[in-house]
Order: sequence, then structure tokens, then C-alpha cells
Amino acid sequence: MIKAQERPQAAVESQAADKIRVEPKASSLVTGRDLAVVKDRIQELLATPATPEQTAVVNRQLGRYPRGMVAVGARCVCGNPLAVVTRPQLEDGTPFPTTCYLTSPEAVKAVSRLEADGVMADWNAELGSDPDLASAYRRAHELYLAFRSALAQRLGDDEGHIAGISAGGMPKRVKCLHALTAQSLVMGPGVNPLGDRVLSLVRRVFDPQVCRCAQPWTEASGQASQQENQ
Ligand SMILES: [Zn+2]
Repeated sequence: MIKAQERPQAAVESQAADKIRVEPKASSLVTGRDLAVVKDRIQELLATPATPEQTAVVNRQLGRYPRGMVAVGARCVCGNPLAVVTRPQLEDGTPFPTTCYLTSPEAVKAVSRLEADGVMADWNAELGSDPDLASAYRRAHELYLAFRSALAQRLGDDEGHIAGISAGGMPKRVKCLHALTAQSLVMGPGVNPLGDRVLSLVRRVFDPQVCRCAQPWTEASGQASQQENQ
């Protein structure tokens, strides 16, 4: 949960806002310091682009080739990809709004079980009655857009078709916990209050710090599945 005192003043916000345009609203909850953190994270991710081995493992996790995959955004302690970062526009020009995507089968399963338990209805009600949560959730949406925008700028991708669209139902609804969880894994704690909540609720079955992978990463992980695909 984001506490009010953790949000730096609006004055800082206007300075960096012209470098990365988030939302044309003066009421943005994203500060200049937030944007600096987002840009650093993008920098870090682009400095370590997806390797062929990682791409092969993600291919196996998803059962399809991860088009537009820029980098692995979060990894299990064993090294397996947990969530990936996809460019805003695929190589053939297709707009792709879901920048942070959950790939770990163990994580997907744990989050699906939580969805099946029906928590989303409760959380949607909570968003309607808890202004602090609603505000933190809107901030998560804005940070998602800032993240994608910084990525788009670095890669020269057009975001025209997906302007203002984030993922998971943000900013007002909870529609897909996988998307929110992926954002929390890729962007870190304190960004998405509900993604963070998912991670704490599923900790006994999925935890990035505890490897429970059916196929843990080994040096041969990528090579093995590359051969399978050939
Ligand atoms: Zn693992």
C-alpha cells in the first residue's frame, strides 16, 4: 500500500513530466521521482535484452513464440523467467498494450486459483469504497503507461493505438490478476497495490524467492528447448 507521505510533491513532478509524457492531466499521481525510477528500470531492462535461451524457455512456458519480447522482467531465484517485457508495437506493427506479461506456469496457476476463489469481486467493491486504494491503483495505471511510454520512446515504437490503455482493468476495475501481478514483478513492490497483494496471498505456492519450478533453470534450459523447436 502506498502511503501518502511516500508521494513526493507535485513540484518535482512537472520537471520530468515533459521528458516522458504520462498523462496530460495536472492531477497525475506520478511524480518526477517515479518517472526517474521508471526510466532507470527501462534502461536496466534494455541493457540486458532477452537471450535466445530465455526466449526459448518463455516459448516453452507459453506454448507459443513470445513476439516482441524485449527482456525478461522478473526471474525466479533459479533463473527462470517469471514475467517478460514486450515492446509496445510488435515487429509487424501490431500494437501491444500488455507490456508486462506473466509467463511462469507456476505463477499463472497460483494467480488463476486466486481468481477462481472470487477475490476480484471483493476487490472491485473495495476500489469503490476505499479512496486510498483507488488512488494507489490509479497511480499503478499511470506508472504502467509511463513505463510503456519510456520503452516506446527508447525503441521508437508508436503508442497511438494504445494510448491510455494499460492492463488488468486498470485504472478503475480489476479484471485480470495476472496482468497486475506481472506489473508488480517487473516494476517492483510499491507500484501496484493489488499486484503486491496477489503476491503476498499466493506466497505459499508461488514466491519469486523460492524456486518451485517444475523445470528449474539450468545452463542447458534454453539449448534443450531450442533443439525441441528445431
Ligand atoms: Zn525456479
